[in-house]
Amino acid sequence: MSKGFKLNYLQSTIIEPFSLSGVGVHTGRAITARIEPSETNSGICFWREDIHEQNNKIQAHINNTVIALLCTRIENSDGVGINTIEHFMSALFAMGIDNANIYVDGPEMPILDGSSELIVKALLKAGQRQQKYPASYLKILKEVSIISENGAWARINPSSNLELSLHIDFPDPGIGQQKIDYSVTTSSYIETISRARTFCMLRDVENMQHAGLAKGGTLENAVVVDNGKILNEGGLRMIDECVRHKALDCLGDLFLTGMPIFGKIEAFKPGHALTLKLLHTLMADKSAYVVKTISEDVSPARGFVNLPKSAAAIPA
Ligand SMILES: [Zn+2]
Repeated sequence: MSKGFKLNYLQSTIIEPFSLSGVGVHTGRAITARIEPSETNSGICFWREDIHEQNNKIQAHINNTVIALLCTRIENSDGVGINTIEHFMSALFAMGIDNANIYVDGPEMPILDGSSELIVKALLKAGQRQQKYPASYLKILKEVSIISENGAWARINPSSNLELSLHIDFPDPGIGQQKIDYSVTTSSYIETISRARTFCMLRDVENMQHAGLAKGGTLENAVVVDNGKILNEGGLRMIDECVRHKALDCLGDLFLTGMPIFGKIEAFKPGHALTLKLLHTLMADKSAYVVKTISEDVSPARGFVNLPKSAAAIPA
């Protein structure tokens, strides 16, 4: 059935398994995640290796998301879950990996440097293998919009690609207002999005740590802002690093549909809860989208097997 499909229309997995270790930002625990290839049509699946009595398999899917503080959490029907999956999901999505098993020995993914750069580098090294079956995509047919607290809103409209238009507005002048208009491709993700770190206000870190959260949060894995000052040595990696990180997060959450979305997403004050609410609203309206097979009629620019060498060589 795959006859006639060009290679990059097919589903992909990685070639070589690899591990990434680091602290979990909320628990402060050392955590190792091992990423392995998986079968066609299996999607991205997390396995809690520290859980033995219950079902430890958690499929990355919008139906498995639950409300969590400051991160994206998925849970199975036994209540076994995994937190902070968004940066891994973002990198897997942007690199065009449809199927992978992720084995993890704790309740959250390692935060690494707060961006997805190390994950992207590891994926590039692991290599990408095309599989037998064509990939699917979710085509938006009409506008879906939501409004949330604090004046935040989001909407999605039809588009021939995946486009993000995000606008953040923080009272701290160290962040302030930032905008990004971004048409997603694998090479542009590597160059302009993957290095953007997560960020927070110093007072929020202090409040969270008083509440027993963010135990692993340090200047090594987040940009910390205090009254207009960036506290990290070396400052920002790019002037609009914060809104770029919002794009990174948004892509990770959108991949909970299990496939690329062809649509334009516009959002004011975006965050995990807003993106997930938009996705739930979209999925509930069956007249707003259709799932199609990727074919030669569309040019999704996905995957990295055909990237020019210069695009795959991200700075050390
Ligand atoms: Zn993030």
